[in-house]
Amino acid sequence: MRDLTTLTIHELENFFNSFDQVLCDIDGVLWNIVQNIPGASDAISSLQKLGKQIITLSNNTTKSIDAYHKQLKEANFDIEKSNVVTPTPVTISYLRKNNFANKKIFVLGTTVLKDALKEAGFVLADNGPDRIEETCHQFASLSSDDDDDVAAVIVDLDLNINYVNLQKGVSYLQKPEVEFLCGARDEKNTFGKKNHFVLGPGNFVKILENTTGRDAIGMAKRSRCMNEYLMEKFQMGKDPSRVLLIGDSISEDMVFAAQCTYQKLLVLSGLSTVSDLEKWAFPEEYKPDFYVESLKTVHELIEKVFGTKL
Ligand SMILES: [Mg+2]
Repeated sequence: MRDLTTLTIHELENFFNSFDQVLCDIDGVLWNIVQNIPGASDAISSLQKLGKQIITLSNNTTKSIDAYHKQLKEANFDIEKSNVVTPTPVTISYLRKNNFANKKIFVLGTTVLKDALKEAGFVLADNGPDRIEETCHQFASLSSDDDDDVAAVIVDLDLNINYVNLQKGVSYLQKPEVEFLCGARDEKNTFGKKNHFVLGPGNFVKILENTTGRDAIGMAKRSRCMNEYLMEKFQMGKDPSRVLLIGDSISEDMVFAAQCTYQKLLVLSGLSTVSDLEKWAFPEEYKPDFYVESLKTVHELIEKVFGTKL
């Protein structure tokens, strides 16, 4: 684990020549929620000038691929729409490959996720009402109102989640033939404010897992399905040592890169701090190969090494 700025010119040249594809996390690397990170678009553009393929990645399904692409464009990132990856396209690909085309899906997730699934041709089961009469009788009657055609349950960030819909998920998942998929498993998230946590969707995945004794199949970063999707779509990982993952989270990005045996660059513009590096509390294999303050530094280093050749 080295500060990228301490490398000699020769070492930097070797580093920048050591990868062809960059898997770049979005939140905390390119921007923090709505605030762009200064220098990030320059860095992506200089990596592209060096011939690197850039694939951007987020676990956030509250935003559509179109919305991400638009926001990237507005922030001066020249990224193809097909190079924006979230658990949504991974889920669609998984459902298609596993023949869920004519089967019903029950979704605990945002309208954005549901719309993307519908647009991809999937039929969604109805969710329960937003409010019910607060009696056990009413709850019992709604909970037993199952749709027999449901073949899969998907749990992701659902900002309007409620007891009835969680129970519906529990009811469907008691049938072993019903597939159980999930998006991000974070139990805590930060929304741009360090040291202030918000409730992550992983807690709800756990509720369903604990209640039904089943394990959800992950579609987000750190999951086998996400890795397979990246491999199929971008031939990423044919030679994993020639992929660089840039991320701001140790527990998500660095772990995912370690699992896929990609090279790891940690930026300190999002979740992680210098003190996380100094008081390392994770297994050794998750340590980044290099770290930098932000992508701005990456841009400056590329200019320093390749300036006249770019
Ligand atoms: Mg991030």
